[in-house]
Amino acid sequence: MERTLSIIKPDGVKRGLIGEVVRMLEQNNLDIVAMKMLHMTKKQAEGFYAVHRERPFFESLTDFMSSGPAIVMVLEGDNAITRYRDLMGATDCREAAEGTIRKAFATDIEQNVVHGSDAPETASFEIAYFFNRFEIIR
Ligand code: ATP
Ligand code: MG
Repeated sequence: MERTLSIIKPDGVKRGLIGEVVRMLEQNNLDIVAMKMLHMTKKQAEGFYAVHRERPFFESLTDFMSSGPAIVMVLEGDNAITRYRDLMGATDCREAAEGTIRKAFATDIEQNVVHGSDAPETASFEIAYFFNRFEIIR
């Protein structure tokens, strides 16, 4: 069993895609073991995406991530990190495969509806960034 952090980004919430994304998670046996809605401050978004601090898109990305409410979830399952990354599809939705969340719903390389942790270490950091252990089922 592995855990990963999922976010339905502000574009996904604004566009009414919470149900669609959750349905795809459920159909793919990615169990939701924690879930909440929050509106990140700019500072929280900067801390969350600190690995991208030096990237040219950092300023715009953190503005976007703090622009409205988001859904943060902990997903659990066998090989959950890779399986969820596969379900999300490529960062750039023009390159995302058929059947992925980003292929179905993303409009832009930045406004790409969902986030997923990319490795066990980042998953641990990202889960602890939003949830304490009493907020995660089991
Ligand atoms: P995420 O970390 O959100 O799951 P990812 O791992 O597919 O996405 P990263 O390279 O970690 O992609 O980039 C983080 C986020 O920054 C992307 O999801 C996207 O919203 C934004 N981003 C990435 N590359 C660009 C870019 N070239 N221009 C604008 N925004 C970008
Ligand atoms: Mg990433």
